[in-house]
Amino acid sequence: MADDASGALARAGELLANAKRAVAFTGAGISQKSGIQTYRGKGGLWNTTSPNTSSIDFFINDPGAYWEVAKGRGATLLAARPNPAHEALVELERAGKLKAVITQNVDGLHLLAGSSEVIELHGNGREVVCLDCGNREPRSHVQARLEEELPPRCLRCGGVPMKPAAVFFGEAMPEEATGRAFELAEECDLMLVVGSSLVVYPAAQVPLIAHEAGAPLVILNAEPTPFDDLATVILRGQAGEFLPELVRLSQAAREPDNS
Ligand code: NAD
Ligand code: ZN
Repeated sequence: MADDASGALARAGELLANAKRAVAFTGAGISQKSGIQTYRGKGGLWNTTSPNTSSIDFFINDPGAYWEVAKGRGATLLAARPNPAHEALVELERAGKLKAVITQNVDGLHLLAGSSEVIELHGNGREVVCLDCGNREPRSHVQARLEEELPPRCLRCGGVPMKPAAVFFGEAMPEEATGRAFELAEECDLMLVVGSSLVVYPAAQVPLIAHEAGAPLVILNAEPTPFDDLATVILRGQAGEFLPELVRLSQAAREPDNS
């Protein structure tokens, strides 16, 4: 780790040491080490596949074409397991510093890691929902049927548009989750952004709300973001490397206060 990164980590560790209701706002970058491709940035999906394939119009127009593209991605998502970055956020919660995780990810990895309050702004792709009757099924069941039936049919009503329970481009964010996310952002005493390009709205409003309410903003991302100018500390690097170190430093930084 470079020296400037060590200084920034120490500063972020101090901020976290004094936090009691920090909130993490995460994006695809936190799951990159779990084998899930980000959309943007180096190695991102949009460098090779059109973003249109994740739009609701594309899906409604041709669910078969959607599932053809999503088949491989679904298998990767289902096989993915939490990495040290997800686990570090669980540790911060147990240490009484982190109140909740607000995520744009649909991979369900924060819940699998054991974080207790997880706001999924874009839904959860481990489930599939029938657009005709609302029936929900685990994605793993549908995934197993894709070899014989594409697009997959609803087992309850026979409807064809079985769609991952994730928010597609062109769909609204779930109201309750959005409301809770904005409330948490308003009330937090530190906003920790991890692995997000911060360009997808309205989700990207979450760190802005926290900043406007006076909370320090720590941004951990592999590449620059449009909010870097607003951040109290910028950590430029890998989530799986930096977050566990940040947890360690936040614990160490607390000791002088207690002596
Ligand atoms: P994004 O793809 O736009 O940005 C990811 C950011 O993470 C990039 O800026 C990249 O530089 C950074 N990054 C990559 N690897 C990293 C690492 N190991 N450590 C730290 N940073 C790293 O993702 P976004 O901001 O979450 O927004 C995109 C949208 O994509 C969201 O709406 C989300 O629903 C969806 N999405 C979800 C998943 C998932 O569930 N894991 C994956 C891809 C996209
Ligand atoms: Zn149905």
